[in-house]
Amino acid sequence: MGLTHKSTGRHLKESTGTPQRKSEDEIIIALAGNPNVGKSTLFNELTGMHQHTGNWSGKTVEYAEGVCRHRGREMRIIDLPGTYSLTPHSAEEAVADEFISSAVPDCVAVVCDATCLERNLILVLQTMRTARAVVVCVNLMDEAKKKGIHIDTELLSDMLGVPVIGISARSRDGISEVLELFAEAKKLKPSSFEFDGRKYTDIAEEVCRECVTREKPKKELRDRRIDKILTGKVTGFPIMFLMLSIIFWITIEGANYPSELLSGFFFYIEEQLLRFMSYIGSPEWLTGLLVLGIWRTLAWVVAVMLPPMAIFFPLFTLLEDLGYLPRVAFNLDRCFKRCDACGKQALTMCMGFGCNAAGVVGCRIIDSKRERLIAMLTNVFVPCNGRFPTIIALISIFFVTVSGVSGSLLSALILSAVIIFGILLTFFASKLLSLTLLRGTPSSFTLELPPYRAPQVGKVIIRSVLDRTLYVLGRAAAVAAPAGLIIWLFANVEVGGLTLLRHCTDFLNPLASIMGLDGVILFAFILALPANEIVLPIILMAYSSSGALIEYSGLAELGTLLRANGWNALTALCVIIFMLCHFPCSTTLITIKKESGSLSWAVFAAILPTIIGILLCIAVTAIARILL
Ligand code: GDP
Repeated sequence: MGLTHKSTGRHLKESTGTPQRKSEDEIIIALAGNPNVGKSTLFNELTGMHQHTGNWSGKTVEYAEGVCRHRGREMRIIDLPGTYSLTPHSAEEAVADEFISSAVPDCVAVVCDATCLERNLILVLQTMRTARAVVVCVNLMDEAKKKGIHIDTELLSDMLGVPVIGISARSRDGISEVLELFAEAKKLKPSSFEFDGRKYTDIAEEVCRECVTREKPKKELRDRRIDKILTGKVTGFPIMFLMLSIIFWITIEGANYPSELLSGFFFYIEEQLLRFMSYIGSPEWLTGLLVLGIWRTLAWVVAVMLPPMAIFFPLFTLLEDLGYLPRVAFNLDRCFKRCDACGKQALTMCMGFGCNAAGVVGCRIIDSKRERLIAMLTNVFVPCNGRFPTIIALISIFFVTVSGVSGSLLSALILSAVIIFGILLTFFASKLLSLTLLRGTPSSFTLELPPYRAPQVGKVIIRSVLDRTLYVLGRAAAVAAPAGLIIWLFANVEVGGLTLLRHCTDFLNPLASIMGLDGVILFAFILALPANEIVLPIILMAYSSSGALIEYSGLAELGTLLRANGWNALTALCVIIFMLCHFPCSTTLITIKKESGSLSWAVFAAILPTIIGILLCIAVTAIARILL
């Protein structure tokens, strides 16, 4: 989803300027189309560049360009943002409109969805009016065939007076014909279609009546039946909870063993490093700094983070590819409306599960500035992958006493409950914002429920490993190394008889104790501003007397160390709450500043969840202390 990490091969440009022609001979083709018609897929197949493809509307918010060659000719392909029409309602539509009507493209290829051609024809007709020449690529022909929809492309071409090609971009069906046409783009003539003052919708209906025939829509019936269950009033929410729990369960159950293997491996390397350092006669402080500081923190982060991520991301992407996430958005739409926010926020919220910074970027799919800000400011309430592992570890240590499969099942259920709490906080914060700083009425939008598609498992795994897992892990690792160094310094440099760490934690202790935490925990959250995944490592390093990070050798030992430092179930609960709502990591904050164009909103994005988190922790602690 849209958890949109575009891979580096893709050449993205800001959508504010129009691409210019370099020479008269250059062949320039613009790709236009409604959202979710497979435009990016076609673009990738043509240009050989990879782009992350998702399954909901409005994801392509910028244009991209690439080059393809055919019969010795080079063509520049400009991928315009997905738009429903050329009447500029949004920035995307304005960009597309301006570019299509300009003299730059030799030809505009309008990509259509064969399964709902009538609606797509509106854009085709509008484009025929303004563009120099038009080619219609009717995509998803395979999907249409499965649904028993037949499109007479020849007749369509005759009726519209422009070339029409039926394609299945994903399996490259028809791509060579598209290339043939593009290579001859300069010879294409403008359409001589007679509009006769008729409305586009009339015309589209009439054309489709002639060109489209439908057999019994078996698959559609099946889709609607599944929709009834997945988006049903009674069944929708329980199924969502179940799906979430299953994903978490598989993640938790599956991550244990590889985590142990990894930590074993890292520990082995550490031993070798220590041996090497003593061999070259390195002073103790340098060995401590490099091996016990930097290396151990790095190893910790990778061992704890990598396995759950490598399992969670592909599972999540699979759900996205299946078409389940738009149903989630549909279910949550009503809730967001009630908070005067936009239903599409459900999608950006889901992206936040992967990475909040990606979620914030995803907010570009929301047109209204007010609603976009609400979505950006509240994205942090769903825990990103940097926070999952810590929450899972604390749940397993403090709240689950059974072991084995039933233990991980229980952990998954509790984790799902924590996530639901985060979602409730999202609603609360959204409502709060729309009642105060960001007042306004919710804009309406139509959410399409795309057909269910069999996911491409191989592609899903590769994409989620390359685009997401490695990206997030790389960032965490990049932060972990310098953080390890800083933590080691804090824990080892003494001022006035006390370590720097001690000075800081003593200062934070009063506030921390009314929040049910201690100074070390609070300080760890602050130090972990660059990446949430290092909160727990910092806490452990501060607790362990050596001033170095203890080695990660399993949850039981971790539990013993935490309990020895005064932790109980209440402490764990408060840490989980604060983990769920505190300032976003620095990457997310920088992204918010970039996307909102204002430093004040970024600062506010840090203050809002932190205040909510502090208040919640104080309340929970006070109640628990009264009751117990
Ligand atoms: P865009 O929003 O128009 O850029 O659409 P995408 O390229 O992201 O495609 C939307 C979804 O349609 C993705 O899940 C693609 O895998 C899928 N898709 C694209 N082309 C085809 C096709 O020819 N056949 C089928 N079955 N699916 C396709």
